[in-house]
Amino acid sequence: MVPPPFRGVFTQQEPIDEASIAGAVAVLRSGRLHRYNVLPGEVSEAALLEREYAAWQGSRYCLACASGGQAMQLALRAFGLAAGEPVLTNAFTLAPVPGAIVAAGGRPVFVETTADLVIDLDDLARKAGESGSRLLLLSHMRGHLVDMEALGRLLAERGVTLIEDCAHTMGARWKGRRSGSFGLAACFSAQTYKHINSGEGGLLVSDDAALMARAIVSSGSYMLYDRHGAAPELDQFAAARLESPNLSARMDNLRAAILRPQLAALDRNIDRWNERYAAVAHELERVQAIRLPARPSAESFVGSSIQFLVPGIGAETARRFVAANAALGVELKWFGDPEPRGYTSTHLSWRFVDPQVLPATDRILSDVFDMRIPLTFSVGDCTQIGQIIAHCAGELGAAAMAG
Ligand SMILES: *Cc1c(COP(=O)(O)O)cnc(C)c1O
Repeated sequence: MVPPPFRGVFTQQEPIDEASIAGAVAVLRSGRLHRYNVLPGEVSEAALLEREYAAWQGSRYCLACASGGQAMQLALRAFGLAAGEPVLTNAFTLAPVPGAIVAAGGRPVFVETTADLVIDLDDLARKAGESGSRLLLLSHMRGHLVDMEALGRLLAERGVTLIEDCAHTMGARWKGRRSGSFGLAACFSAQTYKHINSGEGGLLVSDDAALMARAIVSSGSYMLYDRHGAAPELDQFAAARLESPNLSARMDNLRAAILRPQLAALDRNIDRWNERYAAVAHELERVQAIRLPARPSAESFVGSSIQFLVPGIGAETARRFVAANAALGVELKWFGDPEPRGYTSTHLSWRFVDPQVLPATDRILSDVFDMRIPLTFSVGDCTQIGQIIAHCAGELGAAAMAG
């Protein structure tokens, strides 16, 4: 029996809450939208957000900036990346990650992906050796955390520094420790499709005073870095203030005002995402053709999207499967598509990077489907969506047997 079609919109986020709207209106009424435009004694919304995010994240320092991509660029430059220097990164990620490496003057070296959609530590060890890279920009792609302890040991042995891209792991933890606290610095996004929404926005956190001083000056602080909410002591800026290029990547007070109340609601929303993820996963778990990536018990993830594999599906069947789901209102992305669509692309279409051979990643991604879980969907909606995907997977099995 064909299930009834789903009518929800996969790109529709929840409305901005009333407290954020009130905060935004207050900033608009003041006219002081620029983060350094403050009255004597006033602490700007951007500075307050930095203070609150550092406290929430458990980091010493925080910089609010223009986007997650800018947070990565600022971190890479503040690390002192040299022109043309190799930077290790996972091949399974989205275009802003290799984009940030190239924009900061680096050369991405892609590392293979496992069938559980995390970075392959054996390939990482090999490529760290071959490339001599000093740095791993690790994207916790779609919220899947690699064994962070094994990773830490591997990087320590080889003297490789970690910067985390936590665009999909704001609020996630490994053995209770927050994602974004394992490396030299971590980057978060407040873009509409992430875990807090100001349209665009980014947050960079670190416990390293010298790196943060450089990042703050590079974000475009001019000589106003004393107006930051979670910045190093002023003496840390002695060199950075004249030596760090201004990239004009600031966050404004309007966005910060929109984000502050959302931070207070984040833990509750994480629970809501996970209820929805569980409802979809519950339906998919019963389908023989579908494999869900393992989620280790050490990992507390945020189920704002779900990925599953249909091993050996092949390109033609994958296209039919996506079309069958779409006909019933379920929007799946297929990571095996050679043609980049929407947000989804692979290393094969990142022509701004030297071409690289990644047979394991290519093989795994050809089986991977991806779906966003906006909070505008109810738990019941998510059960219905899971049933539609299960139905379409069942039809494929029936067609294969008939053929
Ligand atoms: C969205 C995203 C980013 C960058 O965030 P922006 O704020 O859009 O620049 C970085 N990494 C991943 C994996 C993302 O999905």
